[in-house]
Amino acid sequence: MKKFIAALLFISALLPVFAFSGCKKSSGYFPKYTINAVYTENKIEGTLEYEFKNPSDKPIDAIKFNLYANAYSEKAKNRPVPYGSELKNFGGTEISDCLFCGSPAEFSVTGEDGNVLEIKTAEIPPNGSAKVSLSFSTVIPAADLRLGDTGETVNLGDFFPVACKAENGEFIECEYSPVGDPYYSGCSDYDVTITVPSEYVAASSGSPVSSETKGAATVYRYSLKKGRDFALCLSKNFTVKSEQVGGITLNVYGDAEFSERALPAARSALRYFSSAFGKFPYETMSVVKTGFLQGGMEYSGLCFISDSADGEKEELTVVHEIAHEWWHCGVGNDQINEAYIDEGLAEYSSYLYFAENGNAEKAEEILNRATAAYKAYFDVGKILRGEANTVMNRPLSSFSGDYEYVAIAYAKPLIMFTEYEKTIGRNKAKRRLSALYKDNLYGEINSDALISALGYPEFFRSYIDGKVII
Ligand SMILES: [Zn+2]
Repeated sequence: MKKFIAALLFISALLPVFAFSGCKKSSGYFPKYTINAVYTENKIEGTLEYEFKNPSDKPIDAIKFNLYANAYSEKAKNRPVPYGSELKNFGGTEISDCLFCGSPAEFSVTGEDGNVLEIKTAEIPPNGSAKVSLSFSTVIPAADLRLGDTGETVNLGDFFPVACKAENGEFIECEYSPVGDPYYSGCSDYDVTITVPSEYVAASSGSPVSSETKGAATVYRYSLKKGRDFALCLSKNFTVKSEQVGGITLNVYGDAEFSERALPAARSALRYFSSAFGKFPYETMSVVKTGFLQGGMEYSGLCFISDSADGEKEELTVVHEIAHEWWHCGVGNDQINEAYIDEGLAEYSSYLYFAENGNAEKAEEILNRATAAYKAYFDVGKILRGEANTVMNRPLSSFSGDYEYVAIAYAKPLIMFTEYEKTIGRNKAKRRLSALYKDNLYGEINSDALISALGYPEFFRSYIDGKVII
């Protein structure tokens, strides 16, 4: 059956353009990744198959992937560490054996940091189906980063080639950035098999399909439908606590103390956001304590919580990262050019969570802190440079560092959404966000879509364009 489908895909990809001219763009179609990888000490290598339809309205003869792991290489200019710090240890990815519909395909690695893989294909008409496959070998640096061996855990984000999102007939190449989350992806289905030494416990995006121990190695298989991304985290020392929360399997990985704190926070965040915005987009949510330079990181059905976040910061991070399951994973946006959308919505969702779960004081404190951070950024900019750039929809490369990014992508949109709430009323604001979520689930929004769902265009434009005085 598998071979038969592959043959069909091969034939259909070679059919001339007119054969497809009557086809409509399939709505609700999601590409599929099949990844089979083996983790050994400082490396993860394997094969990746990507089944897709030409998403553009013109024929294409190549497909591009982001090689995020090359941001960790020695030569990279756009690195995953803050400005002023250096990577002490390096990683990177190598690609080989590219195939298009089963036949060897030409490929090249381009981009400033070797961050783009281009695989030549036969001409694929609009909406035409095709399949490419490749082998990858990714070196994992010793680092507290999205891809990194932290000593205690192994963070496996950024480890495989990720298809570039196509928009207006162009593939969008994502350049890495020391600030923010340098991603813009559509949703895909994932079938991921990973083999790890048996002493490791794996926390992963998606739901487990099977696990089989074969001597010194254990093979885990996961399935994730309509994932925005896919990541894992491994450790020899994880303890796992699981429970069902309204049909969602919630897993917490870390140590016993972390589980005791994170499980109730994650449980009530899942419950609250489901009732406020709509159904959680996946079947499983895994919350993982790991070494991580930033507070946390969201992936579809998985989040990293930094082991340096303790007490109040830890709870806030758990709630914020779970809010991203709705804003980023469920409803996506261009995190490179409009980071304020998912960060701002995750911040406002966290504010709502505390305000409506018996902790109005904490909600107030979050807002006061955001207002203070924004004003400090604004005042310092005025004093030092005579101006502060308060435009919200600008690329990550325009931010001088985390200080500016936090003020513009987290604090200012939180102020904006709470002011919106004051104007329209909290319940109406929540209803409009819920409609925004349901209408765009597994799709992507930009500023225009956000404004058209929420109303009050002049109000939102004055914030986004940097005109409002706070
Ligand atoms: Zn965030």
